[in-house]
Amino acid sequence: MSTTLLNNPAPAFDAPRDAGGKIMLVGLGRAAVSHHLETFGVEPKKLRMRTNQIWNWIYHWGVRDFSEMKNIAKPLREKLAAHFSLARPEIIERQVSVDGTRKYLIRMGPGIEVESVFIPDVSKTGALCVSSQVGCTLTCKFCHTGTQKLVRNLTPREIVLQVVAALDDLGEWPSGKENRKLTNIVFMGMGEPLYNTDYVGDALDTICSDDGLMIGRRRITVSTSGVVPEIVPLGERTSAMLAISLHAANDELREQIMPINRKYPLAALKEACLNYPGLSNARRITFEYVMLKGVNDSNKHAKQLIRFLEGIPAKVNLIPFNPWPGSPYECSDWERIEDFADIVNRAGYAAPIRTPRGRDILAACGQLKSESEKMRASERRKLEGERGG
Ligand code: SAH
Ligand code: SF4
Repeated sequence: MSTTLLNNPAPAFDAPRDAGGKIMLVGLGRAAVSHHLETFGVEPKKLRMRTNQIWNWIYHWGVRDFSEMKNIAKPLREKLAAHFSLARPEIIERQVSVDGTRKYLIRMGPGIEVESVFIPDVSKTGALCVSSQVGCTLTCKFCHTGTQKLVRNLTPREIVLQVVAALDDLGEWPSGKENRKLTNIVFMGMGEPLYNTDYVGDALDTICSDDGLMIGRRRITVSTSGVVPEIVPLGERTSAMLAISLHAANDELREQIMPINRKYPLAALKEACLNYPGLSNARRITFEYVMLKGVNDSNKHAKQLIRFLEGIPAKVNLIPFNPWPGSPYECSDWERIEDFADIVNRAGYAAPIRTPRGRDILAACGQLKSESEKMRASERRKLEGERGG
């Protein structure tokens, strides 16, 4: 099966317009907001101040109407409202799991639908799992997203809008308030973030801004399947925490389940990890390891994992495999996962077993796949049925 990575879409300054032709500001970065205000006619000596005011209203206060921007004079507010829109993207589907997990399907534009998942935690933190691409060009055998054909990078705006939409739904404005539900962001939704490092970096500048969405850079985790040349640049650009989808610690097996290992084998991956900026015992790398029955879950595999981790400040996340329709694997038995965790623990690494969340709404890791793709699949099935009958 072949997938196509479409070119990076719209340059960052190209803000889409709403049906009435107004430029849509929400989701844009600071330079883009400033650019559009300048084009609109804000005088150069007031440009920085106006940009900061509007930025703060959008990203700290979450306002949806220019009339709420009280520190801007009414005549200017009216002119701004005639030229710009503060519209949010459309949440076309919102599902809430029995465990409180919320899955959003957001329409960014015609045919571009993106999933993100909010995962509340018992410890008063909550993570929003965001997508960096529609689909994924890498075809990891255990991952549903990798079976989707249409792939394109999301723009910084489309990444930021996932966070804005979740804050809207959770009632979290103004940003940064006490007891907030959404405290962390993980790039573990659809796509490979390190095939979109620039736009992920731009999006994080907005998501982490102190006078905006106010999510600290240490509360951001970017997960990669191991795009080696982008690992160090990611850390330099974003100061985000790093997670590596390891899943096997010998090259032969990793190649089988993650084709990217042919291009970037384990030795190169380890080298890049050791050079990750800011790496220390306080800032460890998380290694994700999906438990596949009879494939990567033996004691021997656990020992290979320990050998690979030697010298890296690391913690391990053991992920029970989440099946999806037609998936070629089964999840390891619970006792096997526990024995595996014990071995890794005894070697001095924290190895929590991640409880699957939102399984009932197909919101768990590796189960995301856009609705448009599902529709096409169902249409295909219908067609095939018709031909067959
Ligand atoms: N492309 C990036 C980020 C998205 S995947 C990456 O691969 O790291 C997020 C995590 O879910 C990865 O660790 C991935 O390996 C894991 N995953 C994918 N499919 C899964 C499945 N069916 N069950 C459990 N985890 C899965
Ligand atoms: Fe892509 Fe990550 Fe899924 Fe692999 S696990 S196919 S890299 S989304």
